[in-house]
Amino acid sequence: MLSRRAPSLFARLPTLSNPTRKKIPSWQPHIQLRHKSSQIGFLVDDPYIPRFQLLSPSQLAQKRSAAYAHLSNCNLCPRLCGVNRFERTGTCLIGADVVVNTIAPHFGEEPCIQGRHGSGSVFFSGCNLRCVFCQNHDIAHQKNGFHLTPEELGEWFVKLQDVGNVHNINLVTPEHVVPQVVLSILHARELGLKLPIVYNTSSFDSLESIALLDGLVDIYLADFKVWAASTSKRLLKADNYAETARESVKAMHAQVGDLCFTSDGLAKKGVLLRHLVMPGYEAEGGQIVRWLAEHVSRDLYVHVMEQYHPRAHVGKEKRGRSGRAREVVEGKALRYEEINRAVKGEEVESVKKAAQQAGLWRFVEPAEHALFSM
Ligand code: SF4
Repeated sequence: MLSRRAPSLFARLPTLSNPTRKKIPSWQPHIQLRHKSSQIGFLVDDPYIPRFQLLSPSQLAQKRSAAYAHLSNCNLCPRLCGVNRFERTGTCLIGADVVVNTIAPHFGEEPCIQGRHGSGSVFFSGCNLRCVFCQNHDIAHQKNGFHLTPEELGEWFVKLQDVGNVHNINLVTPEHVVPQVVLSILHARELGLKLPIVYNTSSFDSLESIALLDGLVDIYLADFKVWAASTSKRLLKADNYAETARESVKAMHAQVGDLCFTSDGLAKKGVLLRHLVMPGYEAEGGQIVRWLAEHVSRDLYVHVMEQYHPRAHVGKEKRGRSGRAREVVEGKALRYEEINRAVKGEEVESVKKAAQQAGLWRFVEPAEHALFSM
């Protein structure tokens, strides 16, 4: 869910501000297939038929009833709250409705996701992680947005398709609203949705969640954030992030495989794996890419991201027990000071090099010719 919000043309809630994250460059609408001969195995039929269009009536009914059952006893993420979300909320703070901050065509994604017309993005409020550096902490760590029923959300998908002319429906930070997402896709299907579904996740998903999404999601746009348990506890406030992400990414890849495109260079199906290189944590990035190559696929499409920027709690003054800011002593009393800087070029390069040495070869990278590459 590294996607950072852009101002909305559609639903826009409280003030959207400071897009400080370095934007992924946008591209000319020309297509050039780089390494065309080697990518040819990763093309799909055009027109592509989204997976949800292929489900039988009985499979659709099963998805619907499973979604309601999960909402009534929510263990759909590793927090395992066990709450009835029609009556109360768990760690993610969200009940049976979704809370949506922004719905809009979005141009901050990878070229193969955003294309020429943008990715139809839905930024959910709430999250099941508490990353101290969260790029969207104002909507992730608190409720901040519109309440929508699953049916209303499905109607927005169709509006993004028919009015926004976007290339896909991109669900950003959806891990805690998977049952509602399932119901919204089913409703949008009835209303005529024909776009691929992108599940844009931190990968802190349960296997039950991924199973519920099987047959509905076309592209898993998945983060793999950190490797060590101590790092996930300190920076993500989750004890078992890497263990969970390993299982989730394997399950996602088992469903949809490696990323495939239509001949216009737009991604349609598969896993696009993102790793945001963190300052001082490049060794963990190396462990992640080696594991991906060995245990998921050497043909995995990977984006090694360099746009880390200190945000949220990083670099803020430490607070005493009373909640009042402590005196800052020679700049040493800042929170998470070890990541209070931009990532260095050599740190990013070391992760890319580790990925290549592990056998990965399909990377998101700017095309030298400024055209559209795949
Ligand atoms: S999705 Fe929310 S309520 Fe359900 S287990 Fe996770 S944090 Fe708890």
